[in-house]
Amino acid sequence: MSFKAAIIGRPNVGKSTLFNRLVGRKLALVDDTPGVTRDRRVHAAKLYDLAFEVIDTAGFEDAPAASLPGRMRAQTEIAIDEADVIFFVVDAKAGLMPDDRTFADIVRRSGKPVVLVANKSEARGAQGGLLEAWELGLGEPVPVSAEHGIGMPDLRDAVVEALGEERVLGAEDEDDETLAASEVLIGEDISDPEAEAPAYDETKPLRIAVVGRPNAGKSTLINALIGEERLLTGPEAGITRDSISVDWDWRGRQMKLFDTAGMRRKSKVQEKLEKLSVADGLRAIRFAEIVIIVLDATIPFEKQDLQIADLIVREGRAPVIAFNKWDLIDNPQQALAELREKTERLLPQVRGIQAVPVSAETGRGLDKLMDAVVRTHKVWNSRVSTGRLNRWLEGILAHHPPPAVAGRRLKIKYVTQAKTRPPGFVVSCSRPDAMPQSYVRYLVNNMREAFDMPGVPIRVALRTSD
Ligand code: GDP
Ligand code: GDP
Repeated sequence: MSFKAAIIGRPNVGKSTLFNRLVGRKLALVDDTPGVTRDRRVHAAKLYDLAFEVIDTAGFEDAPAASLPGRMRAQTEIAIDEADVIFFVVDAKAGLMPDDRTFADIVRRSGKPVVLVANKSEARGAQGGLLEAWELGLGEPVPVSAEHGIGMPDLRDAVVEALGEERVLGAEDEDDETLAASEVLIGEDISDPEAEAPAYDETKPLRIAVVGRPNAGKSTLINALIGEERLLTGPEAGITRDSISVDWDWRGRQMKLFDTAGMRRKSKVQEKLEKLSVADGLRAIRFAEIVIIVLDATIPFEKQDLQIADLIVREGRAPVIAFNKWDLIDNPQQALAELREKTERLLPQVRGIQAVPVSAETGRGLDKLMDAVVRTHKVWNSRVSTGRLNRWLEGILAHHPPPAVAGRRLKIKYVTQAKTRPPGFVVSCSRPDAMPQSYVRYLVNNMREAFDMPGVPIRVALRTSD
């Protein structure tokens, strides 16, 4: 199991209700044997694809809760101490109370990752409480209704964000079957649908590799992009060929270009070495986020080009095509239409791939090429909230549900985004083995359209839902 969560908050905000929902208990806690200590029990919990443990703090409130009895405080601290992440619950309907702030102080001091849960958000007048919750300084409140199962997709996303993807989703192959699996209702989503998780980071250098067949114009293109010949004299042939990168700035955006052969002036020795550099090419692709495939527009799409494109996609990188030597093309409009049509046909796995005509020699089209690089990079980083995904899924299931296999209809329960760079999704379904590839392709294509993710690899993993 990957992590432990503690549900913290003053009495009556809905902690037990949330606890029950997460561990899949239908009703409130029942018949505790008196005298048996209920402190710090842990229970298997599920929130879509997240399998974790919740520490049960329900018994902490046995003492009168007029102020903050010492015992309750101590127990809260113990639970926090044991937890990897805290669900700090407030009551959006009632608004903030002094006790909320006291608890919030304890939580903040612990330094643990916190998810601020604004419960009872379905209630009328909860909007005020939701706004007030910001005052706690524990980050953005996630509006939910534990009682009605609303807002759970966003709660899931908030947990992933608080703990970090690696931490939460790392143990991918763990056996979920051992957990007391529970069903979390996919309720109506109360939060702002446009409020997508972390903003695109423009401060980090965007890592680019330039690949293509010999003579396609890679060196010329790189020279034109960087504009400084002197940068392009890499180390002597034969010396550390694998660590050559150049930083430059394109309209205020930091770029880092990694290259194998194309960047260096050619010597006879080097030309020979290039023939051996398949591994180099692969390294460049792995290093890069965006890979520019340079094609000679006068002889486009040979088998090798398609192999390169396929490799890029399989490595999860996003390709952008430069149709180079455009100055040599006679009927550019028609040629472009034909080339783009061909591109879509030959590379269906990255539908909507950006393909830009350029002339490395004259510099034409380079701005558009770099625009395409940045745009594709954004798409490659895109994140779709669980709420949006499942609203989309509802539409899919209504209009084009999975087929029946051997007389039984396949069921899809929910979809979450498990990864970015490239976008990766987990589809939780009955009988993943029986799901036809054609239907998975349909989902990918539809998702690409619905969430505007052209030209990047999109990965889908099927998981058993029960
Ligand atoms: P705890 O003391 O923090 O564990 O709170 P409980 O889970 O016992 O809930 C306190 C009260 O709030 C109960 O009457 C619940 O039915 C109610 N409650 C819990 N969640 C919600 C919710 O999402 N909406 C509304 N309107 N009431 C809720
Ligand atoms: P590389 O092997 O892919 O690095 O290709 P080079 O950059 O060495 O270019 C191969 C040949 O194509 C050279 O003779 C270049 O001058 C020529 N070339 C490169 N870009 C263009 C272009 O945009 N237009 C034309 N007409 N020739 C180009």
